[in-house]
Amino acid sequence: MSRFMSERFAGLHAYTPGEQPQDMQYVKLNTNESPYPPSPEVLERLNVAEIEKLQLYPDPEGWALRRKLAALYNVGAENIFLSNGSDEILNFAFLAFCDETHGVLFPDISYGFYPVYAALYGITAKQMPLRADFTIDPQPYCRDEGMVVIANPNAPTGLELPQEEIARIAASNPNHVVILDEAYIDFGGTSCVELIKQYENLLVVQTFSKSRSMAGARLGFAIASKGLIQDLNQIKYSTNPYNINRLTLAAGEAAVDSQAYYTQNCAKIMETRERVTAQLRKMGFTVLASVANFIMIRADWISGAALYRGLKEKGVLVRHFDKERIRDYVRVTIGTDAQMDVFLEKTAELREEAKARAKQ
Ligand code: PMP
Repeated sequence: MSRFMSERFAGLHAYTPGEQPQDMQYVKLNTNESPYPPSPEVLERLNVAEIEKLQLYPDPEGWALRRKLAALYNVGAENIFLSNGSDEILNFAFLAFCDETHGVLFPDISYGFYPVYAALYGITAKQMPLRADFTIDPQPYCRDEGMVVIANPNAPTGLELPQEEIARIAASNPNHVVILDEAYIDFGGTSCVELIKQYENLLVVQTFSKSRSMAGARLGFAIASKGLIQDLNQIKYSTNPYNINRLTLAAGEAAVDSQAYYTQNCAKIMETRERVTAQLRKMGFTVLASVANFIMIRADWISGAALYRGLKEKGVLVRHFDKERIRDYVRVTIGTDAQMDVFLEKTAELREEAKARAKQ
């Protein structure tokens, strides 16, 4: 760090993204990307004519894409906010809806970026413990104490909080925003988008990074009451009005037009998830019952760190969080069937190696 860095941020613990190796080829199951490419419509849309338009700024309002998303989710275009990845919406929301006196509540085990935003803006964060079975206890979020952020399904557990509990949390926070981070909702969860019509404080956040195979394009969106969207725009127009580039907007429109393709991909990923879960359980693993495109797994014969390292040495990249309560686990993104077969094979090899060592 240079001597010019503001003291305010010098001690900040920034978010550590999952590894994005640029050298070696791994079976990459560590950052919850889709193993399937963008739809043919997206590939076609990003043509030379579209690239030639890069001399012009994009539409800062993104109306064309907002109208398409509005039609898909049965809301108004004024209920939609577009962002440079859903991380940006979370960033804007912490900035817009919290301050020194209005804190934030989220689970102790959830998306690792939430505490980073809180620290960045000097916001008091209360991290509520998950239950022993890693499910969310809704009670502590029903006290109208501060902004609430819940990933649903939660990450990295993959477990879902039922819709009626979300409604209860939204109803019990009349003076605070409730953010529902639905990054992984398309893999078997029940979206709460409909609830925004009932609760003006509910902000549903989704992304094109997972189910729509566009992690590299950086496109997220929020669905909420018109007032909350205006608040997010207030922050956006105070920082970076052209936050989404032309190519990404065009790709997003084509992606929404190919909904059937992505629904099919999600169904395939869910099918693969169930197959891999069953096989891992047969091998003695504990596997949380995920409704996301990843699974949290652990076994008695190996630590989380050793499983992560062992798989990496064998060319399979998964994610390990060196954090209390989940240190024994690794998170495995669901890839193609072929990728998951390699993962299962390498895991079985590690098991055999551990057995052989135990006999020595
Ligand atoms: N929320 C959760 C729960 C996530 O896991 C991620 C992905 N790391 C994000 C939000 C952000 O995704 P993106 O910025 O790519 O939309």
